[in-house]
Amino acid sequence: MTDFIQRFHFSDSPVRGEVVQLAETVTAVLNRHVYPERVQSLLGEAAAAAVLLASTLKFEGSLILQVRGGGPLETLMVECNHRLEVRAIAQVGESWSEQAEYLSLSALFGNGQLAITIDPEKGERYQGIVPLDAPTLAGCLEHYFDQSEQLPTRIWLAAGDDAAAGMLLQVLPGHDEGDDADIWPRLQQLTDTVKPDELLDLPVNELLYRLYNEEQVELHEANDVCFRCNCSRERTERVLVSLGEAELNDILAEQGVIDITCQFCNQQYSFDAIDVAQMMRGGAGSSGRLH
Ligand SMILES: [Zn+2]
Repeated sequence: MTDFIQRFHFSDSPVRGEVVQLAETVTAVLNRHVYPERVQSLLGEAAAAAVLLASTLKFEGSLILQVRGGGPLETLMVECNHRLEVRAIAQVGESWSEQAEYLSLSALFGNGQLAITIDPEKGERYQGIVPLDAPTLAGCLEHYFDQSEQLPTRIWLAAGDDAAAGMLLQVLPGHDEGDDADIWPRLQQLTDTVKPDELLDLPVNELLYRLYNEEQVELHEANDVCFRCNCSRERTERVLVSLGEAELNDILAEQGVIDITCQFCNQQYSFDAIDVAQMMRGGAGSSGRLH
């Protein structure tokens, strides 16, 4: 089964939903680094959340979900672009211990903050920041929607072994309650009964039937989600050039070669003195191109 996100809506009502189920994507993220169990679950949940959030936007670019703090888990970052390509990474601090597995979300990140960045290919970056003041990642993301005065939105997330899943419900703009004023609270209540195993394992049809068998649900086509890192030799060159020639020559003098490993996918990029000289002249391959 490939990873996917699938939209649905409730007939004649202003509420839509999304279901995401990830297995290969989560496996690809977790295979590249060794993480404690708690971090594995959080990475999975965050990956599912990033796909759900990206699906609510009409844009070309990336959505980046990032938590930073001073706790045992220092950073967690997931990026999902409009092609539904996902990459993710976490950094565990030296203060990590077995106990960290049981800390609250806020203690785990040491009173960290959750930043949601929308980075369109054209246009300006937008960033929203919320404190980690809910017990779950889903709860913190709901605060983000409340705080940024976006459409009323609820999120449910679950993580299993090398898998993650999630659901999102959102009231569409132009909400007209009509003769069904109760629909938004009712759908939230129904969805609150979802169990992690159901989110992770049930085929979407079955999941939606189990939750909403009294409602009229229309399911849209599924879209594939995959793990992909957008690092490249060209992008790495740009970062190196920004460090300046003197800095690069220092590293070359010390190490003979500049080795850069992408943290997201472990791809290695190697640059020797000739590469660096060409880079600084802006002449090597495609490296002179800025976009
Ligand atoms: Zn990479």
